[in-house]
Amino acid sequence: MLDSVRVRLTLWYTGLLALFLVLLALITYFIFWRSTLQRTDGNLAELSEAFLSTVRAEVLDDYGADAPRHAVQEAITEHHYRDHVFAVLEPNGGMLTSSQDLPNEPPPSGLLSSAAFQKLLADSAGVDRLFENMKGGRSGYRAFVRKFPLKGQTYTLVILQSLHPQQEMLEEVRATFAWVIPIAIFLASVGGYFLARKSLAPVVAMSSQAGRISAENLHERLPIQNARDELGRLAASFNELLERVDQSFERQRRFMSDASHELRTPAAILRGESEVALSRAERPAEEYRESLAVLHAEAHRLTQIVEDLFTLTRADAGQYPLSPRGFYLDELVADCTHAARSLASAKQITLTCEVLEELPICADEALLGRMILNLLDNAIKYTPAGGRVTVSCGRSGVEYALSVTDSGPGIPEELQERVFERFFRADKARTRSENDGGGAGLGLSIARWITEAHHGRLILARSDSSGSTFSALLPAQASVPLPAAPLIR
Ligand code: ADP
Repeated sequence: MLDSVRVRLTLWYTGLLALFLVLLALITYFIFWRSTLQRTDGNLAELSEAFLSTVRAEVLDDYGADAPRHAVQEAITEHHYRDHVFAVLEPNGGMLTSSQDLPNEPPPSGLLSSAAFQKLLADSAGVDRLFENMKGGRSGYRAFVRKFPLKGQTYTLVILQSLHPQQEMLEEVRATFAWVIPIAIFLASVGGYFLARKSLAPVVAMSSQAGRISAENLHERLPIQNARDELGRLAASFNELLERVDQSFERQRRFMSDASHELRTPAAILRGESEVALSRAERPAEEYRESLAVLHAEAHRLTQIVEDLFTLTRADAGQYPLSPRGFYLDELVADCTHAARSLASAKQITLTCEVLEELPICADEALLGRMILNLLDNAIKYTPAGGRVTVSCGRSGVEYALSVTDSGPGIPEELQERVFERFFRADKARTRSENDGGGAGLGLSIARWITEAHHGRLILARSDSSGSTFSALLPAQASVPLPAAPLIR
């Protein structure tokens, strides 16, 4: 049960509310108790003033030896209220008179001779005024002790006020709290539970919908009840995540189907060609040679595609280890141009390399070489015989710009965006029919990944009927201090 957020929220809420209510009740009770006490003390002080005024007035009219006793008895008679006890003590501590002497309403018997009363008198010794609680009666007394002069002597006035009415009132307050607080807590916890249930309803809906989403229905999304609240934003973030996963699944699916499609063709050629070669027991050596040449070319193509696929799969998984080291980019460009020279001359293409300065860089040399060769290979492949291919490389601000320009037919404008897509070929029919070693449409994807892995960019800078220029822009600040001599030759 405690595993439910709703229940936990309700318990927390109820617990805190109960604590708060109990604290509030205690504080209220304390304030009420204190003000009752202050009011009682104020009444006692006022009553003592009135009492003494009466005593002083009465004593003026009496000249006898018992004048103080008579005056005090008159004052007691005049000021005697229910729940009050008056006592006046002589200067020597003996009882002068008290309301016990009144015929009608004597105080509880033995009160003025009780130990509590004696303690009160002892506490008041040496002080002029004293307020103190005193045990006795049903609920105890609030006592006020005050010294006063009369006929040249100091007498002590003691007024006791029963605390029974106050205690009754406080008891009522306690009883009220005792039933109001549990009812408030119960109602609040029921309300809190329904509130928590209502607030968390979108979460329940989201979790049941999320439970239904699998690879088959990845296009489905979580319901969003209010896009502006926290749960709405959570659902929106989750939906964005689903969108990315869906796209990535879709890419993987397309990749698999494109890859199998690309592999099927060379595999079919291999099978067909070998079947033809084996269909007759004897063939002229020339025919076997021709078949083997076709088999070799297709096996080579197959290997190339598998290697490219392997590279991209590892790159996607982030498992392709880069081995950066310091070298000179201008040297690498020169080497790659040199390597492509035989390809170019086979098609009577003029291949030139324009690199004028030393370009130190820290990068994965093998991968950058592969990227340059891919661009050169494309440029030569798609440029008609007798054309021109130029490789240039130089510093451009904080970057090195490496460009491969050809005088080929260019790429139609509407397809220029797509040339970096995997398995994309601008003209599939032509590439296949010419059987010019055209790849599977992975070369530019790999080249782009290589530049991006080096925090650079690969762009199609220009492409029209006069030719195309592919540019790789690589950050130069990754370059490291190099020894004077070039690292590669
Ligand atoms: P491929 O292995 O088919 O060359 P790429 O990814 O290297 O695959 O290139 C994708 C497509 O872009 C090619 O099929 C081609 O149509 C087009 N392309 C690439 N480079 C050039 C270029 N220099 N001139 C014209 N078209 C090009």
